[in-house]
Amino acid sequence: MSLSSTRVKTLLSACGAYLEGHFELRSGKHSQFYVEKFRLLERPEIAGELCAAMAEAYKGKGVERVAGPALGGVVIAYEVARALGVPCAFAERVGEKLDFRRGFTFKPGEKVLVVEDVVTTGGSAIQVIDAVRAAGANPIGAAVLVNRTGKSLELGIPAIALLEMDIAAWEAKDCPLCKQGVPIVAPGSKGTGK
Ligand SMILES: [Zn+2]
Repeated sequence: MSLSSTRVKTLLSACGAYLEGHFELRSGKHSQFYVEKFRLLERPEIAGELCAAMAEAYKGKGVERVAGPALGGVVIAYEVARALGVPCAFAERVGEKLDFRRGFTFKPGEKVLVVEDVVTTGGSAIQVIDAVRAAGANPIGAAVLVNRTGKSLELGIPAIALLEMDIAAWEAKDCPLCKQGVPIVAPGSKGTGK
C-alpha cells in the first residue's frame, strides 16, 4: 500500500468525508467520528487517488475483474478497475442478497477483486463475494477504503483496508460527548447515509 493512513485521512478530510464531531450511528451508538462516503464519491480526483492505492495492493495478482456493491461500490469498483486495467461489475440488492444483473457475466473461475467503500459490518462485502461465487467466478481478494468494524476484516478471503478507523463508539448513556452537552447529528437520518 503506497498511501499512509495519514494521507488517507488528509484526503478524506479535504473533501469533507472524514468528519469529527458527535454522531449517532445507524447502530444507535454515539461516536466522535463519521465517514460520509458520498463526499468522497463526488470528487473523482480524490477517489481516483485512493482507489489507485487500493489497486496497487493487487497489482500482479492476476485480477481479471473488479466487483463492488451498488451504490458506493460502483464508483470504487470502476476506479480500481481503471487502475488495474480490467473490467468491473456492480452487484445490486435483490431482496435480501446482492446479485449481478444488467447482463454482467463472468468467465468460469475468473479472478475477481471485491471492493467496498466503508465497511461497518462486512455484510455487503460478504454478499458480493457470495454473488461472485454464485456467478461461477473466483473472488481472490478484497480491498476496502475504510474498515470501521473495529477489528481486522474477516471476509473469508484475503482483505486489505486503506484506513483502519478506530470506532470509539459508545452507548448513548455512556457517551462522554453527551455528558459535555455537545449537539448530536444523525447523518443517516436525512438520506445521506448508506
Ligand atoms: Zn453522545
